[in-house]
Amino acid sequence: MSLTGKVALVTGASQGIGRACAVRLAKDGATVAVAARNQERLSEVTAEITAAGGKAAAFALDVADEEQVKSTVQSAIDQFGKIDILVNNAGITRDQLVMRMKRSDWDAVLQTNLTSAYLCIQQVIPSMLKQRWGRILNITSVFGQMGQAGQANYSASKAGLIGLTMAIAREVGSRNITCNAIAPGFIKTAMTEVLSDEFKQNAIKQIPLRRVGTTADIAGAVAFLASDDASYITGHVLSVNGGMLMG
Ligand code: NAP
Repeated sequence: MSLTGKVALVTGASQGIGRACAVRLAKDGATVAVAARNQERLSEVTAEITAAGGKAAAFALDVADEEQVKSTVQSAIDQFGKIDILVNNAGITRDQLVMRMKRSDWDAVLQTNLTSAYLCIQQVIPSMLKQRWGRILNITSVFGQMGQAGQANYSASKAGLIGLTMAIAREVGSRNITCNAIAPGFIKTAMTEVLSDEFKQNAIKQIPLRRVGTTADIAGAVAFLASDDASYITGHVLSVNGGMLMG
């Protein structure tokens, strides 16, 4: 139970990768604040965690709403006294070729995937600075590293998260706060469920490990980077992609 005594906040924890991260961090001993818009699903996550003997509380949050980010993060700090681990995971896609991409779809993806991370980081940093310990984990994507046709908004938001990660790592490193990014490849979740079978089969052919990843694959990487074993790693982008992109 390497994270006993720590408090984690996971955004987008109502399903998929965020849910798996919340469950894993709780299993490792952290108290977890799970945040997303869908309160019914969040209740299922807290029920799963408490049934397994862990501690969790649900916080309704639209990360695209600046005022909600401020008030919700403060509520979590008020309830638990601090935030030690922040997992910026909430994310959306609004795919279209750039020629046809609506400005509103560009803005929605940048706001939800990138600006939200900046806002959450800004809200948790005072708590981390005070205790001189913190772990900030940003869920980026292989497409933030290599780009993807039809996903200019998504790729830009995820590449932006990598720059944000390195800048924050430099700003707060002297206070024993690390900031890292995890770059998943092709993971089986609702986000990828909508892709055609043909696309999925072709994608798997490009993956040396010849399978799609699981949410547990990502949660394991997050748990490692949140742990003391990763205390000398910062500003790093950890690829969890089955070898889809190397180097
Ligand atoms: P998912 O199943 O669609 O889950 C997305 C999560 O984000 C949901 O819990 C959703 O909760 C939350 N969310 C979306 N908009 C939000 C908002 N405005 N405010 C608060 N929460 C919001 O997708 P996933 O695959 O688990 O994706 C999780 C993260 O991994 C994303 O950042 C995604 O870009 C990244 N990623 C995924 C893959 C993949 O292959 N699946 C690959 C690379 C990176 P509510 O709807 O309840 O708000």
